Amino acid sequence: MTRTIYNFNAGPAILPRPVLEEAQRDLLGLPGVGLSVMEISHRSKAFEKIIQEAEQALRQLLGLSADYHVLFLQGGASLQFSMVPMNFLPAGGSADYILTGEWSKKAVKEAAKVGKVSVAGSSEKESFSRIPRPEELRLDPKAAYVHFTSNNTIYGTQWKTEPEVGAVPLVCDASSDILSRPIPVEKYALIYAGAQKNMGPSGVTVVVIRQDLLERVPPGLPSMLDFRLQAQNHSLYNTPPCFAIYLAGLVFKWSIGIGGLATIDTINREKAKVLYDVLDASEFYRGTAERDSRSLMNVTFRLPSEDLEARFVKEATAAGMEGLKGHRSAGGIRASIYNAFPLAGAQILADFMKEFERTNG
Ligand code: PMP
Repeated sequence: MTRTIYNFNAGPAILPRPVLEEAQRDLLGLPGVGLSVMEISHRSKAFEKIIQEAEQALRQLLGLSADYHVLFLQGGASLQFSMVPMNFLPAGGSADYILTGEWSKKAVKEAAKVGKVSVAGSSEKESFSRIPRPEELRLDPKAAYVHFTSNNTIYGTQWKTEPEVGAVPLVCDASSDILSRPIPVEKYALIYAGAQKNMGPSGVTVVVIRQDLLERVPPGLPSMLDFRLQAQNHSLYNTPPCFAIYLAGLVFKWSIGIGGLATIDTINREKAKVLYDVLDASEFYRGTAERDSRSLMNVTFRLPSEDLEARFVKEATAAGMEGLKGHRSAGGIRASIYNAFPLAGAQILADFMKEFERTNG
């Protein structure tokens, strides 16, 4: 018998059990094909069906109109930090970035190598404990685009609604909360996300991009970094990450099967509430995110000392809870509770927290 391990890893992270079981069942031979998805041509009929079904399922989940392309790329969300400005930040132009954590900082760092970047809002002075308020944003109506990070994986904060950017194209790094809730997708010009939290294994990066943006792509970019070329070739300009796309397709279908984004959002709220209720009732634990900025994906908190934090992680691990140590740049504890994470796991952690406080508080 294998012991149940509750997987709180921040990414790569937990995947839906039925998806892993289906992949295991079909690993040596896809039904009707007899060969594994890793051993067939990316130009075969069988793979064409896999990538098309993955795209269709994602379109259904997000409610994408024909104005949007879906791309399955490589290089992680980190390559998008460069690819977005290379495609959309023209010489003489300027792009607005909203700084809400380490990942948006990295996005700024890469964009600044390409062109002019303006930090249109930041919560760095408050250790990224909150999302900037609308009146704090200094948005340039002439900006090439506005970039924000919808969920800050390290600091446990999340935008509740999109920043209001008027007619300026809105670009979002949604790596750690894509598909966790319904979004008004028509507000976005471009959404990118590494798959390894809510969509699948690492190795594939999903990009949703509006058609009109592709017309801005300058000539002469390296082919692999050219959004227009990738869209024209339906993500098959070169060999794509076939297995990761296959698995992401299964996750998309699973997400539809459990009721789609509205249902997933309801469950995610319920899970997060179980943990935030413990934080709110305690003098021992201190949540690091301000209440109205709290993430439903990554619940971050501190204990009274680093020694207690180390003991907390050690004892939680021994009790079957993996991955609770906070990111190395933030410290503390982080419980990542992505879509595939079960409510029962949040309840078990909540009970463990109460008991740990009783014996150590
Ligand atoms: N953005 C966010 C919000 C992230 O959480 C991460 C990874 N944890 C990244 C970007 C970087 O993603 P990748 O490792 O796929 O480059």
